[in-house]
Amino acid sequence: MEIGFNKPYLTGNELNYIAQAVASEKISGDGLFTHRCHEFFRERYGFPQVLLTTSCTDALELAALLCDIKAGDEVIAPSFTFVSTVNAFVLRGARIVFADSCKDHPCMDAAHVAALITPKTKVIVAVHYAGVAVDLDPIKELAERHGIFVVEDAAQAVDSYYRGRPLGSIGHFAAFSFHETKNVIAGEGGMLVVNDARFAGRAEILREKGTNRSAFFRGQVDKYTWVDVGSSFLPSDVTAAFLYAQLENLSFIQTKRLAIWRRYDRGLRPQLTDRAGLPTVPAYATNNAHMYYLVCQSLEQRTELIRFLKSRGIQAVFHYVPLHRSPFATSHFPTNNVLPQADRYSDCLVRLPFYFELTDDQVDTVVDEVNRFFA
Ligand SMILES: *Cc1c(COP(=O)(O)O)cnc(C)c1O
Repeated sequence: MEIGFNKPYLTGNELNYIAQAVASEKISGDGLFTHRCHEFFRERYGFPQVLLTTSCTDALELAALLCDIKAGDEVIAPSFTFVSTVNAFVLRGARIVFADSCKDHPCMDAAHVAALITPKTKVIVAVHYAGVAVDLDPIKELAERHGIFVVEDAAQAVDSYYRGRPLGSIGHFAAFSFHETKNVIAGEGGMLVVNDARFAGRAEILREKGTNRSAFFRGQVDKYTWVDVGSSFLPSDVTAAFLYAQLENLSFIQTKRLAIWRRYDRGLRPQLTDRAGLPTVPAYATNNAHMYYLVCQSLEQRTELIRFLKSRGIQAVFHYVPLHRSPFATSHFPTNNVLPQADRYSDCLVRLPFYFELTDDQVDTVVDEVNRFFA
């Protein structure tokens, strides 16, 4: 039995909705299905303004533009994250200052963030790793005290909460991903949430090539024209049609993913408690079952585990190379900062197969093989 790491799940309605979008003869951006997706997120999570984008990377770039990042501004972000978290700001000339992860969780350590703030700090990017919230209250408190923006990189965090508040609703801006490796997908796709009403108008203008086209379509201006900088960040309605089929099944998808996560946890936690690190969900956070991971004792042990599982037909994968050690960061943002936790997660964390169609038998097989390895 071969068990791959990821397999995109199709709900069955994707092609129907794409056919409807095509038949409507309005397949560019901001068509019927884009509006349905926007409404879904506004209603379900109370997000004040949502804008579908072509990717989470694009949503982050839009956030960087809205924060008006200038050369020399400092942006604090975790080192243990995907490159887009910081590249969006680097494109605008920012200097990235890397924060370490928590000891008991890969998310950024708020205490370390506090130590990194300088008069030049303009943005803190909070990445909700594995869909589990960063401890946002201390981050928000720091941001308010120093006049700093908070951007949530919620790429993995759909349908997850922090102290009862949906992730994506807490920072000034939040960026979600619908890449095929996430819980709900559109192939490539993303979304910007704008929580600060001061930026509502500018956000839709920058997303529409710097024009007031959206206001024109609402009948608020009698012609549309160039009013600001901008680019093309909106996806075609074909992408939105695909996504809407997924969103209609979000609860169904989440219920199944949580069942898989709990089955892994029941099988592994009793055996591995003293042998490997297991995922922790702090009391302030919920788990959206984006991922199940283990933290090995060493790089050598992780390499052996991946090799062992591979020999049994199971694909387990490591995650990020810490950004502060990347070739780009060491040449552009050299620092003496040591980030031991980011290094540890980079060396030791391994992700187990996780996708909607994983059967109980397959989960049990992975559990048995992992337990055999550690025994
Ligand atoms: C997936 C991911 C991204 C990028 O999302 P895209 O939609 O592929 O641009 C950014 N940040 C994190 C933390 C991610 O997991």
